[in-house]
Amino acid sequence: MTEEQEAVKTICPYCGVGCGIKVQPGAKPGDMRFVPWGDAPVNEGRICIKGGAATEVVDHEDRLTDPLVKEDGEFREASWGEAFDRVVGELERIREEHGPDAMGFFGSSKTMNEENYLLQKLARRYGTNNVDNCTRMCHASTVWALRTSLGAGAMTNSMADLEEAADVFWIQGANPGEQHPIANSQYFRQAVLEGATVIQVDPHANKTTRSFQIEETDRHMHLQLNPGTDIPLLNVVIKTVLENGWIDEEFVAERTEGFEHLEETLADFDREEAAEQCGVPLEDIELAAEKYAMANNAAIFTGMGMSQHTCGVDNVQNEINLALVTGNVGRPGTGVNPLRGQNNVQGTCDVGAMPNVLPGYQPVDDDEARKSVEAVWGFEVPPEPGLTNVEITRAAGDTVAGLYIMGENPVMSEPDGNRVEERLRELEFIVAQDIFMTETAKYADVILPATTWAERGGTVTNTDRRVQRMRPVRKVHGNTKHDLEIVSEVGTRLFGEGFDFEDPEDVFEELRQVCPSYHGMTYDLLGEEGIHWPCYEPGDEGDPYLYEESFDTESGLGHIEGVRHQPPRETPDEEYPMILTTARLEEHYNTGTMSRRSPTLNRQHPENFVDIHPNDAERYGVSDGEDVTIRSRRGEITVRANVTEAIKEGSIWTTPHFAAASANRLTNDVLDERAKIPEYKAAAAEIEVG
Ligand code: SF4
Repeated sequence: MTEEQEAVKTICPYCGVGCGIKVQPGAKPGDMRFVPWGDAPVNEGRICIKGGAATEVVDHEDRLTDPLVKEDGEFREASWGEAFDRVVGELERIREEHGPDAMGFFGSSKTMNEENYLLQKLARRYGTNNVDNCTRMCHASTVWALRTSLGAGAMTNSMADLEEAADVFWIQGANPGEQHPIANSQYFRQAVLEGATVIQVDPHANKTTRSFQIEETDRHMHLQLNPGTDIPLLNVVIKTVLENGWIDEEFVAERTEGFEHLEETLADFDREEAAEQCGVPLEDIELAAEKYAMANNAAIFTGMGMSQHTCGVDNVQNEINLALVTGNVGRPGTGVNPLRGQNNVQGTCDVGAMPNVLPGYQPVDDDEARKSVEAVWGFEVPPEPGLTNVEITRAAGDTVAGLYIMGENPVMSEPDGNRVEERLRELEFIVAQDIFMTETAKYADVILPATTWAERGGTVTNTDRRVQRMRPVRKVHGNTKHDLEIVSEVGTRLFGEGFDFEDPEDVFEELRQVCPSYHGMTYDLLGEEGIHWPCYEPGDEGDPYLYEESFDTESGLGHIEGVRHQPPRETPDEEYPMILTTARLEEHYNTGTMSRRSPTLNRQHPENFVDIHPNDAERYGVSDGEDVTIRSRRGEITVRANVTEAIKEGSIWTTPHFAAASANRLTNDVLDERAKIPEYKAAAAEIEVG
């Protein structure tokens, strides 16, 4: 057998683009390396710096290799038998003493569909819907708005059709140049080379701005708005569209409902005042509106700059409003398209690791839906929706006594990390499954060492709804277990039946029975290309774009609803005169658990920093490169100042990746009322030199 024949085709473990990679196992774990896969379905062989460094964490010296149990405040090694006994014993005790809702279960988009499916089934068999995953933190509001107004909480289109058909990319609160590098360089860049226009709406000039040289051409535009003013900006755009008669009247009449509400909402709307509030010249917004409305096909891309607000649902609803009034949905090159974070960002929700829905987004409080799932599972599911992530950690030590965490790191990922740590200390029991000793795992009572992306198989669903297979390259540490094996063992020990599966494919076969949009998929049919959901029957090829004929709402119509400006919960005042906003870097990955341990990535950005506008730097006496302390009502961090016009005056910008100085020591845990997503993108803050 040649080296080439032995290489394994799998999926990059990092972002939601879901690039195919081909990995040569090598003679020993440290020799693992990439080999070309030129016809990989999503990325045609290209990978970014993060994907290229993915093997560096697999055999890292920090890997957890044996189960650990805490005794007198210290971890010691234990056998798997002892660790499982302790986990099962504590889960049984908590249920007996406090009831099933005293446990919370955290899935993760770093883990696969089968693993999240089994974890949410475990929670429901235990008797609680307190199960959630990290996508709550990134796009819960997007999912809510898209599901309610169009039908499915996912990208309406796919990257390939956007590249081929879109004339205008409206990118608001997203930064594909940094967060989805291959989507940006392969799909969007190609479209731009062929004439497409980019309109970027963001308080921060970033790699997306630079990659399209937006500031240097007349064709593209960057509307650099104040953080938290997305609704007024879009209302200026929509009102401009209405006043100029640029609406698609036929589409609005035949395919939408609620247009009158939008008209009423905007009847007394003052565009000049709103433009001033946004900090963007009115004529620039009007020009952007014209470019979008005059395009044959215009696509909206939306990111966490929109979703991570207390008005996150309304932010996305207003993007939907714009798309619907101009008829830009239901065709190639159009739609409202969330660019989402992790390689299984879509699937974790699809398979039901959420407190309010079962697999396939079937509401847990819908009797008929619940009964159909119960018929497959053979047990009753509680009918009341459970708590979300932040609600669970807020209730820790109060109504919640224990946490089961699979691959998630809430100390770093949730806002107000100091609060999270305080609450974790109050818990009676925490079990963490992970590959490294994370900032959260330190609080656990039992740590179960899991395998990495390169060691196990399963499926992941990327940001454009493509379900793809991951395949194991090689096992690295003999005493680690796959997440699926661990959850399966815990479930079997607790309940005897319903959790004993042979392999990931066996789990997938059950998953497709209860998840209608996956029903037509099998491992064989997924092959190397994967399939975009919905795929209802074997042989369906999946839909590259949605809503050609009708929307998946009860009425079959797209729902328009006018929204008004809601400022962030914290606005600048005398004590905290700046607005802090946050985002991620290309070279790091969310809480940094993997990327901070990757030498290639860490070399690029070994520490955190803060972007400050030159005028603000002068006002506060800050020099480029010196240390500054940033304080909010929740905590403080000390980081290096990067004085730059990239950030809007009056705002500062930093990242959540670094444990020593994470933005999430400062961010506000106030939630969007409906989607329960925290307001990461706007917090009042002050700066002090030193
Ligand atoms: Fe991996 Fe995303 Fe980079 Fe592709 S773009 S190689 S999926 S990190």
